[in-house]
Amino acid sequence: MIQKDILQNQSHKRFNILTGEWILVSPHRTKRPWQGQQEKQAGDKRPSYDESCYLCPGNERASGDSNPQYTDTYAFTNDFAALQSKSDPFIINDGLLRAESELGTCRVICFSPDHSKSLAHMDTSGIENVVSLWQEEFRQLGSREDIRYVQIFENKGAVMGCSNPHPHGQIWAQSSIPNEVIKKDKRQKDYYENNQKSLLSDYIHQELSNKERLVYENGHFVVLIPFWAVWPFETMIIPKRQQAHIGQLSAEEKTGFADAIRFLTATYDKLFDCSFPYSSGIHQAPTDGKDYDHWHWHMSFYPPLLRSATVKKFMVGYEMFAMPQRDITAESAAQRLRELA
Ligand SMILES: [Zn+2]
Repeated sequence: MIQKDILQNQSHKRFNILTGEWILVSPHRTKRPWQGQQEKQAGDKRPSYDESCYLCPGNERASGDSNPQYTDTYAFTNDFAALQSKSDPFIINDGLLRAESELGTCRVICFSPDHSKSLAHMDTSGIENVVSLWQEEFRQLGSREDIRYVQIFENKGAVMGCSNPHPHGQIWAQSSIPNEVIKKDKRQKDYYENNQKSLLSDYIHQELSNKERLVYENGHFVVLIPFWAVWPFETMIIPKRQQAHIGQLSAEEKTGFADAIRFLTATYDKLFDCSFPYSSGIHQAPTDGKDYDHWHWHMSFYPPLLRSATVKKFMVGYEMFAMPQRDITAESAAQRLRELA
């Protein structure tokens, strides 16, 4: 059994079971005064249609293409994609200089035709439409010979570098498996081979028996602050039934997933009374045709805000050079989110 007092009062490090890395926790520092930078709070009031927005229905984009008059969700290939699919593969091995071509594609996913909304304002059935589109994109992109991994994500808010407030996310699909996924693949594979169960099945079992870091639960999903969270209000949405990717969701589970997203994003908005910024993403099995029975997909939210709508956490100095560090503990953050519900 963990000695709870120690974890709330003394500096310590916590182990991330999914990546195999440690993070530093300094709970005694939360009393220090803050005199650092405050972010400007962007006004949240927006019209439901903006004629200058390149994601609103009917509007023209920089490429010259026009969006259709879509009524729920809409996906298209990014006009300024970071990954290209039509270039020749190459490998460079020049002494100690190594490079390889990376092919792929970048898709933009509009969550709603309504410019003024975010996931936090949408109902469960509206979010279910978004999940359906993620599934369809994952199926199509993942079945391509040149695609080995499909990364679904959202950057929300100017503080996360999001250039357009229209509710949307992105999918980058590429020919190799990216760093974070390689780490999580190895840890999950090792655990599965040793225990014949998925790492996250056993993890949520332990968290549900304790409930200290639990934020929300429905019949099919758990929302929690992971024990090893780096960002102050970082959370994970985890399916209770082990599944390698979102293509394996049953109809009921899909509704449960949408309900968990709705609950979490709406609760985030209440925390500091603002349209809560974050980067969220789904980690799931690669699509290179190999065996990934050990994978247990999950969605993570990394929000930058620390103590108000205008004070964010910086990952600088020690974190750039040594390891991630946090002050408020995962347990007290979970308690605050639970109390808002
Ligand atoms: Zn718009």
